[in-house]
Amino acid sequence: MSVLDKFRLDGRVALVTGGNRGLGRQMAQALAEAGAAVALTSRDQERADQAAQEIAQSVAGATAAGYACEVSSYEQSAQVVERTIADLGGLHVVVNNAGINIRGPIDELAPEAFQQVIDTNVTGVWNMCRAAAGHLKAQRYGRVINVGSTLSIIALPERTPYASSKGAVLQMTRVLALEWAQYGITVNAMLPGPFSTEMNLALEQDPEKYREFIARIPLGRWGDLDEIGGLAVFLASDASSFVTGAGMTVDGGWTAH
Ligand code: NDP
Repeated sequence: MSVLDKFRLDGRVALVTGGNRGLGRQMAQALAEAGAAVALTSRDQERADQAAQEIAQSVAGATAAGYACEVSSYEQSAQVVERTIADLGGLHVVVNNAGINIRGPIDELAPEAFQQVIDTNVTGVWNMCRAAAGHLKAQRYGRVINVGSTLSIIALPERTPYASSKGAVLQMTRVLALEWAQYGITVNAMLPGPFSTEMNLALEQDPEKYREFIARIPLGRWGDLDEIGGLAVFLASDASSFVTGAGMTVDGGWTAH
């Protein structure tokens, strides 16, 4: 098998939470282009359907399905896992991408804001891993990709909810990598720097904050959306068969400082 063949995902089924827009949408598209059947979620069924339809139409021979899922609900997470397996014939790759960011000095944030970020970014990842565990362990194969952030490993002011949550995502990734290695399941985190998505509109529209970010990034720019798919395919495929428990940055060199 050539090295490029190891990146192929033919016959695999990948589930991407929050796959209807932003980084999740890009990763869902990339996984489909590599040959996987893709299930993607949004909290809204129509938005999920729309993205699934776009992927199915743009990638020759692709299968894509959209599901509504609030990831902070264990019940809904388990339902999506069940429906993916029933509708697409299996589950091999889980990309825990759904996430939110609420920024502000700690004394200006409502306690509910902190809880909402933790519920989505931490409990959501735990729920989906918990829901997929039985199936992945039984088939003795799986690729789990949790989306952390540069803020999993470094800090910025006014990010107590988000940085706390993303630090937890990296630690959860490491624990599960240890727990599941014996079942042939790898668990890794990708740690992106800034990409232009809805989550970052406020930063992008503030020239001073935007310049501050660029100044921290050795490559001197934000990430382009199409620069996330390569790592997703690598971590989802047999090309990464000896990689587990890793936190891989995609950040233009930011965290090399
Ligand atoms: P977007 O805001 O563009 O997309 C977020 C996605 O998450 C949407 O699909 C949204 O679905 C879904 N989502 C949000 N909350 C929930 C919830 N409670 N239950 C289920 N789905 C939910 O963000 P990005 O694409 O930028 O971010 C994707 C991931 O990448 C996040 O984990 C983020 O923290 C991480 N990241 C992003 C960076 C960036 O620069 N953009 C940098 C580092 C990390 P919908 O609203 O349709 O329900």
